Amino acid sequence: MALVNENFLKLPVSYLFSDIAKKVNAFKVSHPTARVISLGIGDVTRPLAPAVIEAMHKAVDEMSRTSTFRGYGPEAGYDFLREAIIKNDFAPRGIHLDPKEVFVNDGAKSDTGNIGDILGLDNSICMTDPIYPVYVDSNAMCGRAGNLTPGGVWSNIIYTPCNAENNFVPALPDQKVDVIYLCYPNNPTGTVITRAELKKWVDYALKSDSIIMYDAAYEAYIQDKDIPHSIYEIKGAKRCAIEFHSYSKTAGFTGVRCGYTIVPRELTATTVTGERVELGALWNRRQCTKFNGTGYIQQRAAEATYTPEGKAQIQETIAYYMENARIMRQALTKVGLKVYGGENAPYIWLKTPSGTTSWQFFDQLLHGPHIVGTPGVGFGPAGEGYFRLTAFGTREDCIEAMDRLTQWLG
Ligand SMILES: *Cc1c(COP(=O)(O)O)cnc(C)c1O
Repeated sequence: MALVNENFLKLPVSYLFSDIAKKVNAFKVSHPTARVISLGIGDVTRPLAPAVIEAMHKAVDEMSRTSTFRGYGPEAGYDFLREAIIKNDFAPRGIHLDPKEVFVNDGAKSDTGNIGDILGLDNSICMTDPIYPVYVDSNAMCGRAGNLTPGGVWSNIIYTPCNAENNFVPALPDQKVDVIYLCYPNNPTGTVITRAELKKWVDYALKSDSIIMYDAAYEAYIQDKDIPHSIYEIKGAKRCAIEFHSYSKTAGFTGVRCGYTIVPRELTATTVTGERVELGALWNRRQCTKFNGTGYIQQRAAEATYTPEGKAQIQETIAYYMENARIMRQALTKVGLKVYGGENAPYIWLKTPSGTTSWQFFDQLLHGPHIVGTPGVGFGPAGEGYFRLTAFGTREDCIEAMDRLTQWLG
């Protein structure tokens, strides 16, 4: 008799985006002529940069010849990419890393979901609320999150709410926590963390010997010079933080698949008997066993994002999305909605009109102006009463959606 991992049975039956898809499909069946505009799921729409395409073509050609063919590569990535990452994403910010501290992967979802493998099940977990659901669900799958209560709160997770009342600045937990998940710029709220606020978390982690999982998937969208791009810009962070990066939002790699994780050599955690163990060594062991490396073609594609042409082309695409965000912020503010984010991130987080729940607003937007967004409550209990729109659509859709919304509310 094979037993299932019953932790999976504790997870909510359906996933947020499949609930949304069901509602949208039902609407389309009953309104066949309506053109629904989706500003919902966090996926990019602009094509890959020409420099990336060129690098991928070249890599494919290399794979076609015996002399340049590549089979299994190093599990943690080719040195050409690990070195390019250090040289471009960290050295200019005064952060010095060794290629061995860089673990190339097939995207940040994998590593943010898998990182818990190297940590004990008894750790207490803290995360900001609302949050990217992967951190919660991956902890639930191994039993670390406890049980889901009717309020949508997991019994063993300590939530630190981020809402308009605290200006989206999470308060430090008032009890001791072992592992902290932070995502900045934030998905879903589109808000950022200042250097001073981030320093509070690093200092807290150093003092309480906890680990910060820092998801920097949207760092390329930061426009404000004073906002940190990496947690390692904060002194001492190498001793308490793992950082996740992705080319998905930076360079439109959601369908290509490449990202990387930094596990600094100084980073350790303890055994029950108090012995310090390097987390990088454990992560390397885990990856070498369960992951056989990111494709050569994807790694050459990622490397091309760091060429002068690649950088310029990627910046152009980011500017396109950020202009969408500006258009959306302006239109939404004009119709009297309270909006957050969208200045250093491709997400707009809006407060639903008073008394309207996230899902009610979802239904109203779908049936009124035929716009699809994401109910804030889908990202955590503190997301109730909020709604997420993404700037990843086309300019035309973005403008039309704002026109429709203005008419609908006006
Ligand atoms: C999109 C996203 C990622 C990146 O996921 P990939 O697996 O790299 O595509 C990571 N974290 C957050 C918060 C995201 O929104």
